[in-house]
Amino acid sequence: MPGASAVAIFSWVCWGMGVLAAGAMVIALRMEGELRAALRLAWTAAGALAVWGLIIALGPEPAQQVVTLLAVLGFGLPVVLVVRGFILGRATTRAVDLAAVGVGTRPGRVDERDTIFARMNYTPGGPAFADYYSRHPERRDIDDTLRALPELCGPGSATYDPLNSRIAPAIFGLLAEWRSGVEMKADDAVSGRIGPEGQGAGALGDRTSPAAMTARIKGLARLYGALDVGVTRLPTEFVYSHVGRREEEYGRRIGPGAEVDFDHRYAVVFTVEMDYRFVRAAPRLPVVVESSHQYLEAAKIALALAANIRALGWDARAHMDGNYLAVLPPLAAAAGLGEIGRMGLLVTENHGPRVRLGMVSTNLPLVCDQPRPFGVQSFCRLCKKCARNCPAQAISEDDEPDEAGWRISWEDCYRFWRRTGTDCAMCLNSCPYSKPDTMLHRMLRAMIRELPPAQRVALWADDFLYGRRPLHRWKPDWF
Ligand code: SF4
Ligand code: SF4
Repeated sequence: MPGASAVAIFSWVCWGMGVLAAGAMVIALRMEGELRAALRLAWTAAGALAVWGLIIALGPEPAQQVVTLLAVLGFGLPVVLVVRGFILGRATTRAVDLAAVGVGTRPGRVDERDTIFARMNYTPGGPAFADYYSRHPERRDIDDTLRALPELCGPGSATYDPLNSRIAPAIFGLLAEWRSGVEMKADDAVSGRIGPEGQGAGALGDRTSPAAMTARIKGLARLYGALDVGVTRLPTEFVYSHVGRREEEYGRRIGPGAEVDFDHRYAVVFTVEMDYRFVRAAPRLPVVVESSHQYLEAAKIALALAANIRALGWDARAHMDGNYLAVLPPLAAAAGLGEIGRMGLLVTENHGPRVRLGMVSTNLPLVCDQPRPFGVQSFCRLCKKCARNCPAQAISEDDEPDEAGWRISWEDCYRFWRRTGTDCAMCLNSCPYSKPDTMLHRMLRAMIRELPPAQRVALWADDFLYGRRPLHRWKPDWF
């Protein structure tokens, strides 16, 4: 470029970097399978770069300077903050209370008998049914209406398919058979046990310290397939007050010395990832197939972890589908795995709500993690995308959560499940945090965390590129 001014040369260098950055983002979106987002970004970037290039090539020097300065500030500042966020990472967050990660306060413990899944389990004419509706006659009509709808994945539901609709129920049936493995005490048969009454701990020195045991349990959880894992105290407020889902144990009190004697002090909580493509297929059948798959994975990990702890001589209980003694999302938030979002579920930093949870409770002394907020509370106040896309209008569009945190109408949600024949998951599908865990999205998430004013821009960009409503028709080729 003979005779070109220093401003023009600098402008062309910035322009070239803009071309490279835009190209890289388009390729990344295409590799995610997001053709619509890739095309929209490609056309928008091409237009902006063409205008920018014309100004550099033909415009007067002051115009070149202004446009290049705007571009440098617009891209450079977020990049600096993102890099800073990457370098400092989660260490930038400090110890916080549970309210900062969206865990609200409730007047008492949750009674599992009140949950929609427990209520749907009560056999009409049976003792659980009679007891529950004698104490809650106000719920009888709505529950009868829900019971009259097609079974989940059953004939008559909108997505019913004689082959594919059987996959999820088969897995939930299998999990029901696995439940006998959750209740076991420390393994007395193990020789040389090193648990609280064992003799071997002294000889092992630091290898049995809480820090070493915590690292060991987390390492095992990841080995067995957990995506992320955290440890927290298990306060009574997050333990169910009574058993509800297992009709044969209906109404048993839970707690130290109660009918279900439960005194574990620690919760090891972990996430498993739901496949992005299956979640993008929501609310059609692939999503419930993937949900059941990940409940299976979570149960496998919990059973394996609990078996390991018991083999060392400490009590441990796996909590798995249909057999929880505690409410998992607030415990996961307390263990530093994420925040509770508007949809009432755990939103994790790198996979959003596109996860399922599992837990092992134990008295093995462990080192607890801290809650780690990363911007979900403020982002959810702006976003409301899950509420807008919920086909049952079960998610609140209020600007602020109530004292108990963000909550949904389980009756409205579940009615849609039964009519559709899947567990819907449109809220997971539409959440901007659900995007794949790629470098591109990590950078955007870091920007949201480090630069709260960028949240509006990120939300606008999500709507523009991915659409205000999810639009996917994908299904596995073997379906
Ligand atoms: S699963 Fe579907 S119906 Fe239920 S809250 Fe989410 S979007 Fe709404
Ligand atoms: S979709 Fe938006 S409002 Fe809903 S949980 Fe995700 S970030 Fe929050």
